[in-house]
Amino acid sequence: MAYIPVMTNSYRTSVFAASIAGSDPSAGAGLQIDLKTMNACGVWGMTVVTALTAQNANHVRGIVGVDPVFVQSQIKTLEEDFPISCYKTGMLGNAPIVRAVAKALPDAVPIVIDPVLISTRAYRLTDDSGAKALVERLIPRAAVVTPNIPEAEILSGITIMDAESMEEAACWFLDSGARAVVLKGGHATFRKGVDVFLDRDGTRLLSGNVYPFSDVHGSGCCFASAITAYIALGCPVFSAVKLAKEFVDMAIRYAVEYAPGRFTMNPGWREHREYMLKFVV
Ligand code: PLP
Repeated sequence: MAYIPVMTNSYRTSVFAASIAGSDPSAGAGLQIDLKTMNACGVWGMTVVTALTAQNANHVRGIVGVDPVFVQSQIKTLEEDFPISCYKTGMLGNAPIVRAVAKALPDAVPIVIDPVLISTRAYRLTDDSGAKALVERLIPRAAVVTPNIPEAEILSGITIMDAESMEEAACWFLDSGARAVVLKGGHATFRKGVDVFLDRDGTRLLSGNVYPFSDVHGSGCCFASAITAYIALGCPVFSAVKLAKEFVDMAIRYAVEYAPGRFTMNPGWREHREYMLKFVV
């Protein structure tokens, strides 16, 4: 048996980020895609479970929320050992869990909030009281919030039907206390694929590629996790958002068809691309 020397590489694993979200056993969204994304972006991802879902490529068959006290305990226990540089929240499910997360999160650490309310297949992932608690307790603490159009409409009460109402909804997030917002344009019927970024310095429009497959599962989770990773690595919020858009663009380009006609994000696009360059000449 050969002796294999092992070098510790703590310099590579010393940047920590954590996702507070629901489990998706198909690994196309939720905690599982968050972890894959954070690792691919170069940070050590950690996970705080808020809910278990039974879901596959087409259906969410069941949801069980984790006891809020235990959600709090997961965050506090991580905090004892790890200097987490940025948190991301995803599916929180209900108001007691939102409040527990708000209580447990340290004040000084930036929080990226992906307000996961309804899945692309129209399953309700956070109830109305959870959405209300998100507005009252977490959005005021956000370094950046990343709603899609349906989520922004539910949270703000503003109907988004053109560029002007989209920018009005983006302003609502800043008025609610968030330091920045990226209102994603993927669901828009106008100016398709253009995101609105807004912070105290004003509005910036971010356009991206539009791909032939729609509804790529986990795209919102992947985007918010990439932003979280880049903030954890020290990027200012707007730079983190731009880098995350580039990352997500590639994860969609190399999306995995994990069931017939159903695509999910591929945070491992770099390996996939290398493989293709090697074998598919
Ligand atoms: N399931 C869980 C646990 C999630 O956190 C998310 C995230 O948005 C989804 C499902 C939704 O996935 P999508 O709307 O991208 O299909």
